[in-house]
Amino acid sequence: MGREERRSGDLAGLMGYLLGHKKILRNPYTGTAHLMLFWGLAIPVLIVVLAQFRFAMPDIVAGILSLFLDVLGTAMLAGTFFFLVRRIKSTDSGTPKRTVFPLVVLLIILLTGFLAAGARISIIHHGFSWSSPVGWLVSLVLPNSPLFMQFMIRIHFFLVLFFIAILPFTFMSHIAAAPLNVYYRKKGPRGEMKPVSLEKGIIGAGTVLDLTWKQLLDAESCVSCGRCEENCPASASGKPLSPRKVMGDILTQMEDVRRCGNDPVNPSFPVLEDAITYDEIWACTTCMACVEQCPVFIEPMDKILDMRRYQVLGRGLLPTEARSMIRDVEIFGDVNGKGSAHRGDWALNLGVPHISDEGLNPEILLWVGCSGAFHPKYQETTRAMVRILKAAEVRFGILGKEERCCGDAARRLGNEEVFLDLAAKNIASFNKYHIKKIVTLCPHGFNTLKNEYPALGSNPRSGSRTSFEVIHAVEFVLRLIEQKKIFPKYPVDKRMAIHDPCYLGRVNNIYEPLREISSSVPGIDLKELKRNRANAFCCGGGGGRMWLHENIGQNINHLRAQEIQESGIELVGTACPYCLTMLEDGIGALEMENPPRVMDIIEIVASSLRRVY
Ligand code: SF4
Ligand code: SF4
Repeated sequence: MGREERRSGDLAGLMGYLLGHKKILRNPYTGTAHLMLFWGLAIPVLIVVLAQFRFAMPDIVAGILSLFLDVLGTAMLAGTFFFLVRRIKSTDSGTPKRTVFPLVVLLIILLTGFLAAGARISIIHHGFSWSSPVGWLVSLVLPNSPLFMQFMIRIHFFLVLFFIAILPFTFMSHIAAAPLNVYYRKKGPRGEMKPVSLEKGIIGAGTVLDLTWKQLLDAESCVSCGRCEENCPASASGKPLSPRKVMGDILTQMEDVRRCGNDPVNPSFPVLEDAITYDEIWACTTCMACVEQCPVFIEPMDKILDMRRYQVLGRGLLPTEARSMIRDVEIFGDVNGKGSAHRGDWALNLGVPHISDEGLNPEILLWVGCSGAFHPKYQETTRAMVRILKAAEVRFGILGKEERCCGDAARRLGNEEVFLDLAAKNIASFNKYHIKKIVTLCPHGFNTLKNEYPALGSNPRSGSRTSFEVIHAVEFVLRLIEQKKIFPKYPVDKRMAIHDPCYLGRVNNIYEPLREISSSVPGIDLKELKRNRANAFCCGGGGGRMWLHENIGQNINHLRAQEIQESGIELVGTACPYCLTMLEDGIGALEMENPPRVMDIIEIVASSLRRVY
């Protein structure tokens, strides 16, 4: 089961994550409990092997090994108890048989182990045993009974065998699946959607048979810990989507398919949309919080996006609200339906050169994007960027009428065909003007150009790779400040916090430049929002959600706006047109007496420059 997908392994990375529990320890309580359980299981296996040579080793060594077993057994008992309580409390995840039962078995194994050790000590010892302090404590309350000891040893032994036998059928299978998943984790650009060929039949995922082996391994590796769900903005705002449930549903369908056979024509063959509904699929903002948080590198998001692809290209079921936008990008090349003739209107009287202007010899192409070209508020940011570039005497140009929508929203709304068409036109323009360096304002355009276009090659349908450097505006402007090409001078006396856009932060790991650039502006008192950097809460506009109605649960932007309100700041700095719009709307809805202002950081820098063009 599972379609082909090329993945290379990474043993060194696996060892780092496994032995040090780097990602799991992000949550200190569950991380420590898991560490205790992991080492409590791994080391005793080694010691039990060594203990077979007990008669051949000095007493002191045997005693130390026994002490190790005693201490690690206690750690493991504590870890098992912690996870058991946690699982029992969260039985709403719908997986108690898979998760609670094996933990109960493990708990009994550990308890019978200590009872057997205690019974042995009560029979052969008459005082404190340094090599088994916990066993000695247990022995104080046990009868001096060889029968009881034999009984405990047998229960312990047979339960260990039983535990090994049930491993593949419970979430304990993650002992094998999760390390494999870490070994084969995604190593390329995190924000790149899996390329698909339109010529190869089914697009996206209608059943589990359409998922790749790695996507199925993801489902096998899920321990249903719920970290993805806790951080998912859709779940947090009361929408039916839970990335944990998505993974659980896929696993259940894999088991159903194993039972009823790999025959999709069979009327009882399960289809994904039976379990994962329309409202779930379209609630995802592609914020990548689930991917960021998962301790075993599972990517619930790519399954959701593959399901969208199937809904749109396989069944023609794009949500009604998004249809006009998709039609606009198809016909006019922009999400606003204004047309390429107006794409350069924002630059009227600004003297912005076209990339092909004679004698320009451009260093960079300024990628304007649909929002930068047409959204009245974000046009201000584009103009601010122009002021900065001119102040720094950077030779730049734009594509003007030849620029098209980057295709991010169309792709994430499942329309690969429209995305490929837009990408082909843009790449043709890059080739025409021999573009080598592009600076973008919008993080969605940044991600698409940087991480998705190169895989499409100079001819997006041919598959050969092409390359050009893509830099986000905050990084580029920070370089200009560091190179002393511009000098933010006029103070912006505000208590300010950064709202990390998902497509800059979690998707492309750009966090510090936003803070460094803001700190270079005199007067700014930089604070942090409660959820920041990799834990930042989404604005709700990504994944094409800007064009969808939010009629279930709370509005995601209202939740983020409340967090901003509680922080008591006066200015929110961000670096994304979607975040700017969503946060302005969210803050507006709170009807505060003195609402904080939302600005793009590029505009903040431009307002602090000495020379205004
Ligand atoms: S996908 Fe990852 S984070 Fe989510 S429940 Fe499964 S293991 Fe936990
Ligand atoms: S990408 Fe974000 S919205 Fe989508 S499932 Fe993951 S956490 Fe939820």
